[in-house]
Amino acid sequence: MPQPQLLVIGGGLGGIAAALRSRALGYQVTLLERNPTLGGRGSGLYHNGWRYDSGPTVITAPHLLEELFTLFGQQLQQQLTLQPLQEYYRFHFPDGSHFAYGGQAEQIEAAVRAFAPADGDGYRALLEQARQLFTIGFEQLAERPFHHPATLLRHTPELLRLGAWRSVHRSVARHLRDPRLRQVFSTPPLLVGGNPFDTTAIYLLIHYLEQRWGVHYPLGGVAALMTALHQLLRDAGVVVETNCEVIEIQSDHRRRVTGVRLATGEELPANQIIADLDPLHLYQKLIGVQRISPLARLRHRYLHHSMGLFLLHFATRQRYPAVGHHSILFGQQFRQPLEEIFYRGTIPQEFAIYLHHPSATDPSAAPPDRDTFYALVPVPNLAAPIDWEQAAPQLRQRLLDRLAATLLPGVEQQLLDEVMITPHHFAKQLRSHLGCGFSIAPRFQQSAWFRFHNRSPHLDGLYLVGAGTHPGAGVPGVLSSAKVVERLLQESQRSGK
Ligand SMILES: Cc1cc2nc3c(=O)[nH]c(=O)nc-3n(C[C@H](O)[C@H](O)[C@H](O)COP(=O)(O)OP(=O)(O)OC[C@H]3O[C@@H](n4cnc5c(N)ncnc54)[C@H](O)[C@@H]3O)c2cc1C
Repeated sequence: MPQPQLLVIGGGLGGIAAALRSRALGYQVTLLERNPTLGGRGSGLYHNGWRYDSGPTVITAPHLLEELFTLFGQQLQQQLTLQPLQEYYRFHFPDGSHFAYGGQAEQIEAAVRAFAPADGDGYRALLEQARQLFTIGFEQLAERPFHHPATLLRHTPELLRLGAWRSVHRSVARHLRDPRLRQVFSTPPLLVGGNPFDTTAIYLLIHYLEQRWGVHYPLGGVAALMTALHQLLRDAGVVVETNCEVIEIQSDHRRRVTGVRLATGEELPANQIIADLDPLHLYQKLIGVQRISPLARLRHRYLHHSMGLFLLHFATRQRYPAVGHHSILFGQQFRQPLEEIFYRGTIPQEFAIYLHHPSATDPSAAPPDRDTFYALVPVPNLAAPIDWEQAAPQLRQRLLDRLAATLLPGVEQQLLDEVMITPHHFAKQLRSHLGCGFSIAPRFQQSAWFRFHNRSPHLDGLYLVGAGTHPGAGVPGVLSSAKVVERLLQESQRSGK
């Protein structure tokens, strides 16, 4: 009979970090992942010999990754190069202008002053607000358990003073006048699944995070990051089982977890379980609504979800050396397309495109005379009745037409390979509720204490990490959620449970 142990379900970045941190606390840890490889949203994608990044391309707060290696006496730098980028993003506007920034506060302020001189002081004030939100939202709260209402009450006055109840866009608009810069600095919520018009201003901290520790890209792509982390798991003695889907979390009459049942019918005992899953998938499918309180069931029904994502990964015969690593192409309108995506459930005629061009930084991303890219557009999640069989090819064509007319002339004739990803991929492959790109949306009413707690209120011995939990989506968020669970496990060890 296998010994009772700590099981981690889901090998996304949050699950991997939680497995490593609990292993360092002395637990026997097994990580169960339904797909053949680890990484979830953050994995390498191989197609016809090409390598693409499935998800995160902007690595901020790299120390959170470094810490995982240090726990086992290793150094991240010896396994992987996290390349700092000089230019973080390049934003292109329909009037033909563009704005790029990188570096630290003074350089970004200088770029703002050069682009819109009247907004220099406003940018400084915006950055100061972002810094203060960072101090409370990242330094003080991101790594702390947030399941006691007292924690919320203690920090509410400070959060209100910093305008956390305002949206990101509203806060930006209070400081900046240039409509193009308002779009630029309102973009971060989209990186964690939120509409900038209703995402809490707490997420302004992302901008501070970027310039505090820089923006990095792993040479060898996200695949190389995953290879390094997988090796670290092995070195640390974590048992990793891939192609292993959990279909039920089992508990006893005292509502304490006892183990899991796999899709194969096999049962594995456990006295602690950490779930790195979409919390709604966890509660609705793996635990079952009958084990959830009626109040929680009601709340789950009224949650606001992040958007879906449409991605086109592609390789080109020619290189596009003038295109930066991260480009964002804005359309004529900013707010209206977001309303269509988030509120009306329709694919807008015009949309902002995020273009990732790893070969701009990483020679291993493509052969010397070729290029690889992904183009990403936010779209409605699967709550909208969109027939993706029909919509995907149309969207692909519009995307390529727009890229051909702007940054990538003649791109369609240059294509050597392509892969389309729709919200169905997120639902089927990653078990994401409604195929959302980032779990629940980062609104004020769904952040901190209001977000899914890292210790389940429904079953003892069940912990949660990942994008849907406190502190939230994005690489720094999910890595921090593992630190929260580490603290909770330490508490549980101290109390002998
Ligand atoms: C296209 C895209 C671009 C992004 N870009 C950035 C970026 O540039 N910077 C940034 O910081 N963040 C970015 N993000 C966000 C970031 O990648 C995610 O928030 C983060 O990787 C999510 O990690 P997670 O721990 O929540 O797990 P996930 O990645 O969601 O992984 C969960 C894992 O659980 C597995 N699983 C699910 N159900 C089961 C089951 N029943 N049994 C076993 N296994 C199961 C899934 O297969 C999956 O591997 C991006 C996300 C996307 C989608």
